[in-house]
Amino acid sequence: MFLQEHARRELASRLERLKVAERKDATAMEASKSRANLRAELARVEAALHRIDEGVWGTCGHCGRPIPQQRLMERPETDRCVDCLGLDS
Ligand SMILES: [Zn+2]
Repeated sequence: MFLQEHARRELASRLERLKVAERKDATAMEASKSRANLRAELARVEAALHRIDEGVWGTCGHCGRPIPQQRLMERPETDRCVDCLGLDS
C-alpha cells in the first residue's frame, strides 16, 4: 500500500509541526490560524493516523465507499468522499 505509507509519513510530519506550533505562543503559524483551527487540524491528523492503524483509512466514514486516490493524496486526513462532504454522520 504505497499510498497509505505515503499518507502515514505525511500525516506524521504534519502532526509534529502542529504539536510544535501548539506549544509556542505566538508563532507565524498561529498569526494566520486561530488556536481552535490548530487544535481541530491536530485532531483530524491524529484521527487519520488512527484510521491507518485500524485499517479503515481510505474508506468514507459516511457511505463506506472507497475515497478516490486523488483526494487521499491531496487530503490524507479526510474521512469523507466528496459526495459526503458537509453531511452529518
Ligand atoms: Zn461517502
